[in-house]
Amino acid sequence: MPDYDFRTLQKGDQLATVLGNNLVHTLEASDPAFVQTARDVITRFGLKPGIEIVKGKQPLRKVGAACVHDGTHQVQLSETFLSYLWCMSYSLLAFYDTLLSSDDSPVRTKARQAFDYAMSLVSAYAEWPDAVPNPVFGVAADQTLVEKVNAVFCYAANFVLLHEIGHVACGHTQVSAAVQPRWQLIDEERQADRWAWEHGFTSPVTNQIQLTRQFGGAVAVSALLMLNKALVHSRHPDSDERIKNALTVIAPEPVSHCRLLVLQGVRLWEQYHGRPLEWIAANSFEAIFEGVLTSLSKHRETDEILRISARIR
Ligand SMILES: [Zn+2]
Repeated sequence: MPDYDFRTLQKGDQLATVLGNNLVHTLEASDPAFVQTARDVITRFGLKPGIEIVKGKQPLRKVGAACVHDGTHQVQLSETFLSYLWCMSYSLLAFYDTLLSSDDSPVRTKARQAFDYAMSLVSAYAEWPDAVPNPVFGVAADQTLVEKVNAVFCYAANFVLLHEIGHVACGHTQVSAAVQPRWQLIDEERQADRWAWEHGFTSPVTNQIQLTRQFGGAVAVSALLMLNKALVHSRHPDSDERIKNALTVIAPEPVSHCRLLVLQGVRLWEQYHGRPLEWIAANSFEAIFEGVLTSLSKHRETDEILRISARIR
C-alpha cells in the first residue's frame, strides 16, 4: 500500500513557507475521505506523495504558482506564489475587516502595503519588506488578524493544491498540453477546479471553519483574478467564470461574507488594472453583486474580441 502522506514538504526560505505544516494539515483535513482519495490517486495514476516547494528568488511570472511536475509526478508549489498568496490573504481580510474605516487607518495602510508587495512579486522578486506584515514576526496589535490570515491562507493554498491533485485524479496529465485544442485545455481546468471545490470545500464542518474555508476560497479566486488585466486566458477559464463557479459550490447563498470579500477583490482588480466597472446603486447586496458580475462579463467580451482579432490580423 503506497503511503498517502504529503508531509514530506520541505520548507523554503521565504516567510510564508513557515506555514508548510499548516498547509499539509489543511490538505489532509480537506474531506473525511481525503486519505482514501489520495491513496487512490497515487495507486491509479502514479502521483508521487509529498509536495515539493520550488525554492528561489524568482518572480511569479517566471516560476508559476503550482503544477504536477512532468518528470517526478509530484505536486510542486512555488514559494514566491505562497508569499504572493499570503500577502493577498492579509490584504483582502484587512480591507474587509475595516470596510467602514477611513482610508488612512493603520490597518488599511498595512493592507495596501501587503497588496503592493504581492503585486510587485508578479513581475520582479524582492525581499519581504519589514513594513509589510508577515506570518512569522507578528506584533501584538496585529496578532489576531495575522492568525486569521494564516488560517484563510491555508484554505486558499489548499484550493491550488487540490486543483493540481484534481488534474491527476481526472486523468489529465496523460496527454501533452501542446497537442490539445484550447477548448479541451480549458475544459480540463474547469474539471480540476470543480474537483478541488468539491473535495476540499463541501464536507460538513463547524460554522467557524466554514467561514474560514469560504474566505480561503474567496481569496484564492480573487488572487487568481488579480494576476492578469485580461479576463480571457489561453488555457484557463475566464476569470469571472471561475469566480462564479467557485461561489456556486462554496457559498451558494446569495448573501455571504465571502461574496463581500470577492467584491473587495474585484474592486482592487478594477483599481490596479484600470478597468472601470459599473457599481449599480441597488439597495440589495445580491443586485450589486450581480451588477458587478455583469459589468465584468462586458470586459470579458471585449477581451475575447481583442484576443480573436489579434489572432486573425
Ligand atoms: Zn490547472
